[in-house]
Amino acid sequence: MEAQKARRPIEIAAAESAKLFSFKHGNVQIKVTHWSELVRGKVSSHCMVLASKLWENFIFDPTKNQGKSKKPQCEKEDSIEPRWETQTHKSQRVERQDPTSENGKQETLRRPVKEVDFRDNDSEALLVLLRIAHLQYNDVPTTLTYKTLLDVAVLCDRYNCVELVEPWLSQWLSDEEKSWKEAGHENWLFIAWVFARDKVFSDLAARMVREATTNDDGKCLTSSGAEVSGPMPPKVLERIQEVRKELIKNLLEVPYSRLDRYESTVASICSRPGNREGCDAAIYGSIARGVQKAGLWPRKQAEDIHMSAKELATRVKDIRIYAPYDSYSNQYCGGPGFWDQIPNILSAVPSPVLDLPRRHMM
Ligand SMILES: [Zn+2]
Repeated sequence: MEAQKARRPIEIAAAESAKLFSFKHGNVQIKVTHWSELVRGKVSSHCMVLASKLWENFIFDPTKNQGKSKKPQCEKEDSIEPRWETQTHKSQRVERQDPTSENGKQETLRRPVKEVDFRDNDSEALLVLLRIAHLQYNDVPTTLTYKTLLDVAVLCDRYNCVELVEPWLSQWLSDEEKSWKEAGHENWLFIAWVFARDKVFSDLAARMVREATTNDDGKCLTSSGAEVSGPMPPKVLERIQEVRKELIKNLLEVPYSRLDRYESTVASICSRPGNREGCDAAIYGSIARGVQKAGLWPRKQAEDIHMSAKELATRVKDIRIYAPYDSYSNQYCGGPGFWDQIPNILSAVPSPVLDLPRRHMM
């Protein structure tokens, strides 16, 4: 984010940008958008071929990647799911070099195209991959911002070349435990999915179940109130929302089911000898009053709840049940207090991503 929004330093002339993207033995021209400007560079077809099968196709047999213009370039033939949700990619535009001699179809096929268009790729992330592909290891950064790490993950997924960056992953992910927890870093789900960081993947998804809020359309919001967007693994947001909804339903059920009990009978609920009616009336009244104060009255459906499940759990847990003379008893007065039930409900939440396919298994 920072890189794109920041002003392009004046001292970096366009020619210098072109140099960045021009590699030794470059024989294929590339077009890149860098600092909002079109830059032309040159890559080595041999290096590109070794780095990614998808790049090999772009350079030597672009027809292999055509007909998939509505899908991400990296999508496997047999996959029907998009790899991420909010981005689609234009077909990689290529222009073949005119063959100088006609030596048969085979030779024509192996002749590199004249130009490959990378304009819709993030240039900073692309530069990282190109430097690795061209063995410029000393120029590969040892740390990446969250934004660039995400963009690198997007390109690794798109070009199916995670192996290319693997030697750098331990450095780039060295602060993952801190980074994924930061506000607004929900797309760590995608980073973790691409780079097979299973624990981060499931921990972040579980946290979003507990802490995500929603808007009126039921979409997940970030802690700053913006709709969660950007690259996401397939189905993950839907699963997080499903599990969140189930959790909220279970939390609402705690006070509502207790109210149901009193509303469904005129018989005494309290079984303790003494003032049973007074006990029932006090408990029913305190739950009804507590539900109202918690903003849960009139009765809500799970989809009406836009606060986080965590906040809802706190509000339900804080509903205090009063009984005459403070003589409330789990055993006699109709069941345990809500503060006893909430931790069990929270700890029983299933992982939203347990059975979702991981990228490295696809
Ligand atoms: Zn009682």
